[in-house]
Amino acid sequence: MDIFADYHIHTHASDGQGTVGDKFACASARGLKTIAVTDHGPASIIFHQNERKFAAEHADIEKANRMNSVRVLQSIECNILGDDGELDVPLGIMSRCDILHFGFHRLISASYVRRAPRYFLVNGWGLAAARREEDMVDYNTRAVIAAMKRYPVDVLCHPCHRAILDMRKVCAAAEELGVHIELNEKHIDTMEECIDTVLESGVKFILGSDAHATRDVGRFDKVKSFIAAHRIPPDRICGLGVEPVFRDKSALRAEAASRGEGGKK
Ligand SMILES: [Zn+2]
Ligand SMILES: [Zn+2]
Repeated sequence: MDIFADYHIHTHASDGQGTVGDKFACASARGLKTIAVTDHGPASIIFHQNERKFAAEHADIEKANRMNSVRVLQSIECNILGDDGELDVPLGIMSRCDILHFGFHRLISASYVRRAPRYFLVNGWGLAAARREEDMVDYNTRAVIAAMKRYPVDVLCHPCHRAILDMRKVCAAAEELGVHIELNEKHIDTMEECIDTVLESGVKFILGSDAHATRDVGRFDKVKSFIAAHRIPPDRICGLGVEPVFRDKSALRAEAASRGEGGKK
């Protein structure tokens, strides 16, 4: 399998190791064409992206892109905050991203947990049986679909990792809106149960190693086995058989600019 891109990588701007330059060098050595840097949003505990680090990361990305080998895209891994679909990333940062990733995470600051306690506590720390209760799955599904409608997000990260989703509904909305379903090297096991449902839809997949260590950039051992085992057609996998098409961010940029939060770019 000739994987040409890795769309999910962390740096020291959040809980990853190494700089954009380190990730770029590793991606280049491994023959990748494109990578995306996706540090965590501000609701994540302790290690997360902020305005200062985001701007510094942006400058590092511009420098890397001047070398004309691996194309580096800037994203942020937004946290879903509840079933109104709100995400934790300020518009000013979001509007300067090339791509937007989003998903459920459990290591969230208390001020955000208070906004939707059951969502964070049952999904994050509750028993597996409680996480599978119908009303919990309904809530999680509403949250993901609302976020996809509210923001031009491109990648649903590690679906069903902790927060179980009704993937039939999620994929129908994702396909309509142009959101990609991630094949995440760290959490590919959570796709086992729902892969048949996802394949029945026409939704596109996208590759993400979720590398935190530099050496893991572009490593997809488990994902490759998964793709082979489930015979996922390469022309549905962005980073393998096809290039992704990301959603139009112009309305988001206009809104950020009208609020004076546009920043440069
Ligand atoms: Zn994640
Ligand atoms: Zn991640």
